[in-house]
Amino acid sequence: MLQELRQNPALLKLDLYCKGIRLDENCLVEEDGGRKILRTRAGLGSGLELILPGNLWTNVPVTEKFASHSPYSLHRENGRYMLRWERLDVMPVELAPRPEWYDRSTTTGKPMTQIGTLQGTYLGIYQAKVCEYWTAKPQKSNCKFCSVGLNLGIDDADTKSLDEVMEVVRAARDESGITYVDFNTGHYEGDTYLDILEPFIVRIKKELGLLVGVQTPPHRDLTRYRHLREIGVNRVSFCFEIFDRKLFEEICPGKHAEYGLDHYLEAVRYCATLTHKGPRHEPWVTNGEIIAGLEPPESSIRAIDWITSVGAVPTVCVFRPLIGTDLEHLDPPRTEDMVPVFRRLYEACMEHKLPMGVAPNIHVSLVMLPEECRSLSPNRYPWQSLKLKAMAGVFGWQYGRRLAQHAAT
Ligand code: SF4
Repeated sequence: MLQELRQNPALLKLDLYCKGIRLDENCLVEEDGGRKILRTRAGLGSGLELILPGNLWTNVPVTEKFASHSPYSLHRENGRYMLRWERLDVMPVELAPRPEWYDRSTTTGKPMTQIGTLQGTYLGIYQAKVCEYWTAKPQKSNCKFCSVGLNLGIDDADTKSLDEVMEVVRAARDESGITYVDFNTGHYEGDTYLDILEPFIVRIKKELGLLVGVQTPPHRDLTRYRHLREIGVNRVSFCFEIFDRKLFEEICPGKHAEYGLDHYLEAVRYCATLTHKGPRHEPWVTNGEIIAGLEPPESSIRAIDWITSVGAVPTVCVFRPLIGTDLEHLDPPRTEDMVPVFRRLYEACMEHKLPMGVAPNIHVSLVMLPEECRSLSPNRYPWQSLKLKAMAGVFGWQYGRRLAQHAAT
């Protein structure tokens, strides 16, 4: 096993999600320029941001109970970090660098990290107030794995103005070289989330030309996504989390009552048809997001097969029982149960010839990207791999030119 982990950083990334890590007392994460460990963040992440060999960025659980008995530990040796399994060295790893802007405030006086934070190499912004499933009366109807309602006001600011967001996006572009900004919202009465996000999207596109994505509930008027496509949005993501209908209802009561699984699926299907219906220079990807470990692996695999069959790309998170959430008492999934799921993720994306790994400089710490799962599969897709490589080259060149045009702003 140890040898396999040393040779296969993708397997290591997956195993670390499932087992977490213990930090040896000699680790000096922030003093050594690493990113602060947030107790909870973005509903799923909570841990230490690391870079594994192969340039795999990851967010490893450290604060949850299961991590305290992990076989993995991190040690600081001569200013470098070594990952160990029990007492044996696995491999050296790097701390994801904390940019200088993390220690600054906006001109309005808010810490910049309360406006947005790096997740891997992109900027994530939880825009607007807390998801209303958390404040529903007479009873909360939040998703049971979610920590967003525990988090806001602690790690995030309650309100974020257009100018504040632009200030942080500019800092992240100039100092961290981000290429992509991801907006995330919960549910708001009246489906106002797209109206809230549009002014931010328009300004980022006009002034900075960065790639922009939105992750919101599925708007009841699906034609709204045609407009998003036209104004240059590059990614829409719908988190239905669970494909098993009964478990979806149990674990996501708000989503079930408000939209229902079928509307989530219809939004994924509809948006995947918009690829060729917007500006040609703006790439468009539709994601259906699920959490592996909250339903049987076969059900996650069925979800992956369905998402890819309609031309969308699955985003697959590994369930993490975050502190303070309704599911904190559960165990994380076992790595051996997750390997077939992530293997299928890679294979299904390749079989359906979906674009992956094409956008420049996007490394994601909270999930395994489909292209990162290549080494979990024995199958090779030489022609599709070549095509993706060529697409990445062309898109990287075009995008570089576009960014250069905006660089002076
Ligand atoms: S929709 Fe669910 S996962 Fe998303 S913020 Fe609301 S409670 Fe959390």
